[in-house]
Amino acid sequence: MFEATLKRVFGYEEFRAGQREIIEAVVEGQDVLAIMPTGGGKSLTFQLPSYLKNNGLTIIVSPLLSLIEDQILHIRERGERGVARLTSMESLEEKQEVLNHLKRFRFLYLSPEQLAVPYVTRALANANVQMLVIDEAHCISQWGHEFRPEYARLGELRKQIGSPQCMAVTATAPENVKRDIIEKLALFTPAQFVHSANRPEIRLIVERLEKEEKIGRLKALVRDIPKPAVVYTATRREAEKLSSELEDAMFYHGGMSTEDRRLVQSQFLRDEVPIMVCTSAFGMGVNKDNVRSVIHYQIPATVEAYMQEIGRAGRDGNPAFAVLLYAEGDERIQQFLIDQQYPKDEQIRNAYFEMENGSTLSQLPRLLRMGEDDPVFLLLKQLLAERSLQEAIDWVKDRKRARYRQLGQMMDVALINTCRRAYLLRYFSEEKVDQEDCCDVCGPIVFPETPDLVRKNVTEWKKRLTQIFSFE
Ligand SMILES: [Zn+2]
Repeated sequence: MFEATLKRVFGYEEFRAGQREIIEAVVEGQDVLAIMPTGGGKSLTFQLPSYLKNNGLTIIVSPLLSLIEDQILHIRERGERGVARLTSMESLEEKQEVLNHLKRFRFLYLSPEQLAVPYVTRALANANVQMLVIDEAHCISQWGHEFRPEYARLGELRKQIGSPQCMAVTATAPENVKRDIIEKLALFTPAQFVHSANRPEIRLIVERLEKEEKIGRLKALVRDIPKPAVVYTATRREAEKLSSELEDAMFYHGGMSTEDRRLVQSQFLRDEVPIMVCTSAFGMGVNKDNVRSVIHYQIPATVEAYMQEIGRAGRDGNPAFAVLLYAEGDERIQQFLIDQQYPKDEQIRNAYFEMENGSTLSQLPRLLRMGEDDPVFLLLKQLLAERSLQEAIDWVKDRKRARYRQLGQMMDVALINTCRRAYLLRYFSEEKVDQEDCCDVCGPIVFPETPDLVRKNVTEWKKRLTQIFSFE
């Protein structure tokens, strides 16, 4: 029966490794914690049970609008119309329309903020919810690499909508994050599925360089390395700058409009662009099997981010390459980015001072000169609600220290003189594996000589892009 549904709804002949066990647990009504690598087919594991049960609504909480858009696109593409979303993009009327007709839908995607809106919570409390899915569940943990304060309330919201069956999914979660997910979501003796973080088809390479050598090395590397290739940078500006210096490259980052991002992404998906220079915004939910190489021009902030990003290479199972270019001091940009994600002591003091002196929460953004949607402000708001001034200051200090420590662990990947794969697996509490073509420490890694992609459209898209972004 599982296979028949798989074929009929999704058009696949067989399950990928691990999918079936998860679906069985879901169908039995168990709470589930599934840790599956990016590209392992996790969305299928919470979508397929809906067709087996045909009873009620599956709610999927997802942290990013782009992720929600991608998933809905995929669902619609296979002809499913019973899917809706509640995000900051919908008007109040559109939201009401969805909430008034919940019976029409099989899947409802929403952001954690939307689930917390009282009239949304109420409507869902009265609906027939079959399952609550928390995607990117690691965001719930303060020890995770992408902690989101809005995720912290999900356990309580789950209760408010009647404690439906719950499935938490994420690509990576070390032991302490796993424990946090189970506790915060109040998962009841969950069935746990952990797929190895190891991606044997990806060869791991670190090149240590001087700062001035990096751009030259990158240019040579993208000539030699098998393509399609993704080059990750830490900032939007860097992504734009590098893409202008490389031939046949386009850039992608979260600051572009949805249309521009979609255009660039689809060209890359169709192999019309061999090199994509991007920030970490790229790749979430992108289904491209034949990416051959991922280059990090700057060191990522965490081992989790690194694994997720290199995991976009070699999904077809064929050999792929991950190259990290590291120059001493590269970590400073990440330190700077971490600092920017937290309120400064002075901002915290000002916020508490204002509140004590009779200001209201809604006046606060103006008084502190912060946007009301600014994640730093949202965090500040949460601190105000839960902690005293000194506790808030200490909490931020602790968090930053933890983030620096994570950055340090990522730097170890670049600096160690022992097997990099063994280090990464140990990080995820896994045993080391012995394999050929492992990493540059274990033995030299040679790029195969592959013919370049057909570039029939290169001139065409360069022209089009110039018109769109006018960067020339
Ligand atoms: Zn190795």
